[in-house]
Amino acid sequence: MKQHDGMYIDGSWRPAAGSGTIEVVGPADGKVIATVPAGSDRDVDAAVRAARAALPGWAATAPAARAALLTALRDQLAARADEIAETVTAELGSPLAFSRTVHAGIPVAVCGSYAELAASYAFEERIGNSTVLLEPVGVVGAITPWNYPLHQIVAKVAPALAAGCTVVLKPAEDTPLVARLFAECADAAGVPAGVFNLVTGLGPEAGAALAGHEGVDLVSFTGSTAVGRKIGALAGAAVKRVALELGGKSANVILPSADLARAVAVGVANVMANSGQTCSAWTRMLVHAEQYDEAVELATAAAAKYVPGERIGPVVSAGQRDRVRGYIEQGIGQGARLVAGGPDAPRPDGYYVSPTVFADVTPDMTLAQEEIFGPVLSILRYEDEDDAVRIANGTVYGLAGAVWAGDDAEAVAFARRLETGQVDINGGRFNPLAPFGGYKQSGIGRELGPHGLAEYLQTKSLQF
Ligand code: ADP
Repeated sequence: MKQHDGMYIDGSWRPAAGSGTIEVVGPADGKVIATVPAGSDRDVDAAVRAARAALPGWAATAPAARAALLTALRDQLAARADEIAETVTAELGSPLAFSRTVHAGIPVAVCGSYAELAASYAFEERIGNSTVLLEPVGVVGAITPWNYPLHQIVAKVAPALAAGCTVVLKPAEDTPLVARLFAECADAAGVPAGVFNLVTGLGPEAGAALAGHEGVDLVSFTGSTAVGRKIGALAGAAVKRVALELGGKSANVILPSADLARAVAVGVANVMANSGQTCSAWTRMLVHAEQYDEAVELATAAAAKYVPGERIGPVVSAGQRDRVRGYIEQGIGQGARLVAGGPDAPRPDGYYVSPTVFADVTPDMTLAQEEIFGPVLSILRYEDEDDAVRIANGTVYGLAGAVWAGDDAEAVAFARRLETGQVDINGGRFNPLAPFGGYKQSGIGRELGPHGLAEYLQTKSLQF
């Protein structure tokens, strides 16, 4: 077990102000794998001061210099991909192959995309007799969750640095080890002292201190809607910018003309990936009444391929496992039909949950309304397209979704009616440049690509 005692502040690793620690638990067997310091408001204050002091210098660097630094950071992330994948597998529990391709691979792509954008983005525009300067917002407080621990960090830090902002990061307490690796990469890439700072700690302490700090100009938060609401209220009271990436309950709408087998197979894979701990997961599958029984059979067979401990890992913590199991029990209690999995532990050790599929889920059930954040798929029946639109839009969330149809035009026509920030058409591929973010209570603001960069910029117009 490793005992880490430093936090990365003002360009070096230094001990925390207090003596509190956080135990990092490996979800595959429940054993403690490391400890990290539990930062307090004093550590957050030191980090914010460092970020403020570094801001004028960093904001004044040429975009090409920021691009070069992000290229160096991307190269560091790529060089340490194996270590990153192993670390995420140890602290989050995802199978190593998934950690390699997704948890280690996507951040390299996203960081690379911001290296290119920093070089090519128009940080100045002409509007009539004005020149509009797009300037960095200032000091960014980034608060990230554990589900895609490195991706969430890079999706905030890379655009912030590209924009000329400085950053204090408070990563999730369940997955601080990969955040430490990221800080090592930033250091090795030559990020100047104070431009990027890391404070590990608990949400209600270090997180709340960062969100409420008067030296922070923008809070970028990804996590639960409950915490996002608090952070939004704090930011509102302080008239400070805020970006919130919150929960989801996305719909996978399979229209009658679609390739049903493919839509169901991809839909099940989407929900089971990362043990269902994906805010954009399509946890509600909507199938036409005439194809309903066939879809349920296909989904049941597909779920059986996700053997716990092989193709699907544990969930992140005992608390998360208990929460997910509670939802499964509630689903049974409310009359949904369990066709795969269930609340029982599939393995004696670790925080595993059986890949679970419910049929006969109705839109008002908890299963169809609340974000479960586990490997649980609900299959709902619709009668016609208007009914499908109503069901798909009938939650407080609007983060992602999918539409399948015989041709793209039909799927796109349906997608236009969805209240959601992102829709995959007939199995469309992940695009690291596409804006990601929510309608309704799924959040405010967008991440990734040029839209993600714009979040970290403010405008100044000069009239001539
Ligand atoms: P999850 O359900 O994914 O754990 P949370 O919203 O609880 O989502 O956590 C996401 C991030 O927000 C974590 O880094 C956590 O430490 C932090 N956090 C939790 N509570 C607060 C809070 N009151 N203020 C600021 N950050 C918080």
